[in-house]
Amino acid sequence: MAQPVRVVFLGGLGEIGRNCAAIDIDGRIMLIDCGLMFPDNDMAGIDLVLPDFTWLRENAHRVDGVVATHGHEDHIGAIGWLLDEMPLKVIGSPLTIGLAKNRIEERGHLKKASFIEVSDGDRIQVGPFDMEFFPVTHSVPHGYATAFHTPQGVILHSGDFKLDMTPVDGRLTDLAGIGHLATDDGIRLFLCDSTNAQSEGFSDSETSIGQNLEDVVRARAGRRLIVACFASHIHRVQQIANAVIAEGRTVVTMGRSMNKNVALARQMGLLDIPDNKLAKIEDVDRFDDGDVCIISTGSQGEPMAALARMSTGDNKFLQIKDGDCVILSSHPIPGNEHSVNAVIEGLLRRGAEVVDSTTHRVHATGHAKSEELKVMHSIVKPEWFIPVHGEYRHLVEHARLATRVGTPPERVVVCSDGDSVVLSDKGLKRGESVPAEYVYVHGTVGDLGEGVLDERRTLGTGGLVSAIVSLRIEGPHASLVGIPEIVSRGWVSGDEGDQIHKDAVRSVTDAVEDALAKGVRTRSDLEKLVRRTLGRFVSNRTRLRPAIVPVVLGAHE
Ligand SMILES: [Zn+2]
Ligand SMILES: [Zn+2]
Repeated sequence: MAQPVRVVFLGGLGEIGRNCAAIDIDGRIMLIDCGLMFPDNDMAGIDLVLPDFTWLRENAHRVDGVVATHGHEDHIGAIGWLLDEMPLKVIGSPLTIGLAKNRIEERGHLKKASFIEVSDGDRIQVGPFDMEFFPVTHSVPHGYATAFHTPQGVILHSGDFKLDMTPVDGRLTDLAGIGHLATDDGIRLFLCDSTNAQSEGFSDSETSIGQNLEDVVRARAGRRLIVACFASHIHRVQQIANAVIAEGRTVVTMGRSMNKNVALARQMGLLDIPDNKLAKIEDVDRFDDGDVCIISTGSQGEPMAALARMSTGDNKFLQIKDGDCVILSSHPIPGNEHSVNAVIEGLLRRGAEVVDSTTHRVHATGHAKSEELKVMHSIVKPEWFIPVHGEYRHLVEHARLATRVGTPPERVVVCSDGDSVVLSDKGLKRGESVPAEYVYVHGTVGDLGEGVLDERRTLGTGGLVSAIVSLRIEGPHASLVGIPEIVSRGWVSGDEGDQIHKDAVRSVTDAVEDALAKGVRTRSDLEKLVRRTLGRFVSNRTRLRPAIVPVVLGAHE
């Protein structure tokens, strides 16, 4: 009997972001990706969301490393945070490792990580993990589908992928290699990208976007062009550069990650922009409008990025003016729609024309749509299937799709963050769950907790009312010192507000005097009383729900 293999899902099943899974073989653990999630609008002030590392922390001595399937933030962005807690081997293509290193360096952990670079088709052994890397096409170059040859047969993880038959670099998704694996060894368990399971048909090829960009650029001769896209989308940057250089323009990159990634990709020979066609943003004013194209970060509306600053007039290098054309060669990822809209509004108000995927085909998704998924499933023909990388509805739709392409429904298992499965000679069974909460990061505080977020939501929607009560207690005698003070923020204002404040003072005074007369002396009891009294008053009088903060001074502890 071969030993069982466990797969634990720590993130990315139920949301787009913070992808992280663990394979547990022979007492050792290998992660597949360790990414972060960007917050949506109701996560007040949060910078990032990480996977829950509780289970990894408890098993830190067993963790060997992480396979980074490709260089996107939702796959590599949390590696630096996990390195806070344990050393890791990071395995991936040279570009993926280059991008990961930038992130890891930001957290000061380059020394705690060791790096293993792999090439297309490589098969390597790390501890008990026998792993094989198949090229896939995606919106960052050099991504992999990873096959784990385990005592329970092959577990194939698709990575993020699409079936682009004419990719910019000619590097195709290795369907033949995956097909060989499926016929020779058989795929025991398939974990596959679900992002676009709900989208019909095939995705557009990246090269078709290049042609569309050329048309858009040519039609805007003589005008200044600004194009925003993901800084890691090296092929998109290449196509933008090709389109504008052909029209005699010089490329100027703007934004920290764009500058960094363009330099990295040129150095690795993955991006071809001649030296004399690349200029620094500091020199942008030296060019006539029709002779330059600025390639910028901020396509997701990130408030601190170059594009958002242009939209508010706060970009120190570039002021948007009439006649400028801004191309958003991107699509908002879920949660970012609001910010992207705000940026577009701002650009339009400053006189720019905005071209985006709603008006022109200037963006193609990097994720397989339903017909591509069907092709993949019919080649992989897995014994068991678990959809990964998606919101729950994407996972459910992908599960349905798999059964239509021939996997029996009882062999398709929809899992969520925190679920685990055990693959044994008898088949696949659900295992014990592990913690998989959202871990919120704000500033340098690593784990803010859901409580803090709830408080922020209350403050944001209702404001704050505080009552400060001072007491003098001497022997059996207890009395108020002065009158209680009511301090509020974001609650009421003006003459009406003054009256409400006075009434609140009276209400609290009466309640406290009454309680003191009855012998109540401890701070906790009195604070409870003040909270209840003030809460009831606020609710009856204003029908609002601010945060209530009672402060009682001078009472018994
Ligand atoms: Zn992803
Ligand atoms: Zn990706």
